[in-house]
Amino acid sequence: SKPTILVTGGAGYIGSHAVLALYDAGWPVVVVDNLSNGSREVVPDEVPLIETDIGDAAAMRAVLKEHRVGAIMHFAGSIVVPESVTDPHFYYRNNTVASHALLGAAMEAGVRHLLFSSTAATYGAPETVPIDEDAPTRPINPYGWSKLMTEQMLRDVAATGAINYGALRYFNVAGADPKGRSGQIGKGATHLLKVACEAAVGKRSHVDVFGTDYPTPDGTCIRDYIHVADLAAAHVLALEALIADPAESFTFNCGYGRGTSVLEMLEMLDRVNGTPVKRVLGPRRAGDPPQLVAANRRLVERLGWQPRFADTGTIIESALSWERRLFQKEAAVCA
Ligand code: UDP
Repeated sequence: SKPTILVTGGAGYIGSHAVLALYDAGWPVVVVDNLSNGSREVVPDEVPLIETDIGDAAAMRAVLKEHRVGAIMHFAGSIVVPESVTDPHFYYRNNTVASHALLGAAMEAGVRHLLFSSTAATYGAPETVPIDEDAPTRPINPYGWSKLMTEQMLRDVAATGAINYGALRYFNVAGADPKGRSGQIGKGATHLLKVACEAAVGKRSHVDVFGTDYPTPDGTCIRDYIHVADLAAAHVLALEALIADPAESFTFNCGYGRGTSVLEMLEMLDRVNGTPVKRVLGPRRAGDPPQLVAANRRLVERLGWQPRFADTGTIIESALSWERRLFQKEAAVCA
């Protein structure tokens, strides 16, 4: 039978989609989330949600033992690049230090498998795209460093044989559960598609385009947007691989290997939505590399990952219908 999986940050955006993928595939799941940015509503009622901070090692030890956790998917953390530039100390505490505490609790409780949410920000501003996993890691912001330092810690601990781990380096995660059970909620959203969908439904007046003088064809940054449900499916495959071969650890990029500019995303959104969102062209945002596109051969070949929702229109449609639903719910609460 399947071991219980602890999902940290399971009430957050990506974590909740991983919970759904595990749940749909019949894995027993427990969620730990401090609800700083997560929401109870996106976690299925049948899944226990423990409101605790992963940096609290004693509390985490108790959870791991009580629920007889066999493996951890570790999503909890902070993810806003510009915020990491203005408050780096918080990012090292909330990402690196908290992961260190969680790892300690896991080792004491005898949990031997850990799947870690890492990021393309570990590569910094790459010289060539697409980027493969052997490319140099030279982050250009504290967020990327906070994740890379955690990867290094996992690598060194795994080398002792205490655990095996997988680091999944996400490119730009977007979209929402195709069945409408979860999506991005966080107030004060900063991610492009979320912000653009908020503008499309009328929650914002416009979208700021951060930088139009990048060395790219239309002058705006290029990213590899991956549907959150495809990413969640990759997590389940990665988890199975960790359990199947406890001697093997790995690092995989998660993206489609395709680049889309900020302006291209907005054009596509207008097409899906039917009416244009207002753009305000502005200066660059701190910490943004011009281009991030994944080489994903390792993920595809080693895990047999097969994307199902790669079409950009599909990604945008799912994000937009989630945003419309949120908007209606909020309107109903206010009425
Ligand atoms: N971006 C933008 N306007 C926004 C939010 C983002 O122009 O309101 C740009 C941002 O500068 C970057 C790209 O969209 O080039 C993706 O940014 P996002 O914050 O979504 O993800 P990141 O790549 O920082 O993880």
